[in-house]
Parts: sequence; structure tokens; C-alpha cells
Amino acid sequence: MDKRTVIVTGGSRGIGEAISTRFAKEGYNVVINYVSNDERASKLKKDLEEKYNADILLVKADVSNEDDAKRLIDEAVNKFGTIDCLVNNAGIAIDKPFLDKTKDDFMKTLSTNLVGPFLTSKFAYNYLINASNAAIVNISSTNGIDTLYPESIDYDASKAGVISLTKNLANVYAPNVRVNSVAPGWVETEMNSELDKDFMKEEEDKILLGRFAKPEEIAKVVYFLCSSEASYINGEVIIVDGGAYGS
Ligand code: NDP
Repeated sequence: MDKRTVIVTGGSRGIGEAISTRFAKEGYNVVINYVSNDERASKLKKDLEEKYNADILLVKADVSNEDDAKRLIDEAVNKFGTIDCLVNNAGIAIDKPFLDKTKDDFMKTLSTNLVGPFLTSKFAYNYLINASNAAIVNISSTNGIDTLYPESIDYDASKAGVISLTKNLANVYAPNVRVNSVAPGWVETEMNSELDKDFMKEEEDKILLGRFAKPEEIAKVVYFLCSSEASYINGEVIIVDGGAYGS
């Protein structure tokens, strides 16, 4: 059987790195997208090639930029001929007090977190629709559902938007491609490396499992949703937050 191909946006670090790693381990060709950190991306490519003998393509592209998003899809298809799964994971958070938040902050966050997944999903349409058992997984967040913070008002809106986008895309892509979303709670990544220790402790106390998730614990749900094991799950949002109380 031909090898399957996945594109992971923001696939070079954090949750994206865990997703890229999981798919490489499962024998996929992996297209790892990133935007700035060449060193991190190159190291991951080398590691995955050595460890899993995987075929890895790095594509440096800003998913919020229309030309870049199109080039990402084109480069993936030129290299591997097809796309079977698209994981829209790239995301940013610009945490600031509500009154300091600017329109530029808001637009940048929306462009990356919400418009980016729209663009990649649109440009990948003709390939995904012709693949067998194809899937899209969009990474939302519990911030888009019930854990709201004024410091991340733009981020929370973008992640709520990702859920709406997911349901619309499931409709657009039916019946050939399943489109689902994963909404993680707190995850141990660099996105949270600047958080105040007391705040982190307060947040951990709200989680029934008493800890943040490891990126691999999100990656395994993403892999499941892309696999035939999830063949009847469509247009859904899976919360992966360790059993957390909203705040
Ligand atoms: P990280 O900050 O650790 O990694 C972000 C990744 O996205 C990097 O690979 C980065 O590339 C890439 N990236 C950023 N902007 C762009 C862009 N414009 N175009 C392409 N790639 C880009 O993030 P996390 O792993 O923490 O988060 C991954 C996803 O999970 C995000 O959507 C986030 O909102 C979501 N999430 C995270 C949670 C958490 O607690 N960490 C909780 C819930 C959801 P480079 O290294 O080159 O900059």
C-alpha cells in the first residue's frame, strides 16, 4: 500500500512536534510546516528520519499568508503526490491585559489561528477530496469553549471560531473527508513557558488529573481522529483537558 501523507502546520515544536512524531512513527510521510525557527525544524526532521526512517518535508511558510499557505500545499503535493490528512495546529497567543490589547494583536491572532486553517483547508480541497479515508483535524482549545481569560480575548475568540470552521468544513467536505477538532486544556509547551508559577498552580488545581497534559497526550487523539478507527466521527470537538472545571 502507498504511504499516507500528513501535513502538520506548526509541526516543529510543542504539540505539533508530538503530532509530527506520532505520524512519522506510524509510517506516514510527514510535511512539517513552521514559520521562523529553522534550527528546531531541521533537528526534528533529522531525528525523525534517523529514528523512524520517515520521509519528512520541511516547509517554512506563514499559514496566515495566502501565498504561503498555497505554497505549503503545493510543495507537499509536489513531493508526495497526495495529501491524506491535514492537521491545522499552528497557533499563537499574545497575552496582555485587556486594555493594552490592540487591533493589530487581535488581527494577528485571528489571522494565524483561524484564517490560517481556512486557507490551508481550502487549498488542500482538491487533494483531500480525492484521497481515501482523508481527514482534517483542527486544534482549537478549551479557551474557545468555556475557559475564558480577558488577557487572551482574541485567542479565545479565534479558538471558538475554529470550532465553527470545523463544523462548516465537515459540511463542505462531506462525505469524502471527515473534519474534526481537538480542544486541549493546558499543555506543557513553550507557549506556556512564561506563565507565573502561582497562576499555573491555581490552574492545575482546577484539573481533576492535577497536571497539564503532555503534548503526546494530544497527539494520540489527533492520530486517532485521522485514522480509520475514527471512521464515523465527523464535525465533532473532542475536549482533552484532564477533566477541568471552567473558570
Ligand atoms: P508552540 O508555541 O509551542 O509552537 C507553535 C508552532 O506553530 C511552532 O512550530 C511555530 O513555528 C508554529 N507557528 C506559529 N505561527 C505560525 C504561522 N503563522 N505559520 C506557521 N507556523 C506557525 O505552540 P503549542 O504547541 O503550545 O500549541 C499548538 C496549538 O495548540 C496551537 O494552535 C495552540 O493554540 C493550541 N493549544 C495549545 C495549548 C497549550 O496549553 N499549549 C492549549 C490548547 C490549545 P516556529 O517554531 O517556526 O515559530
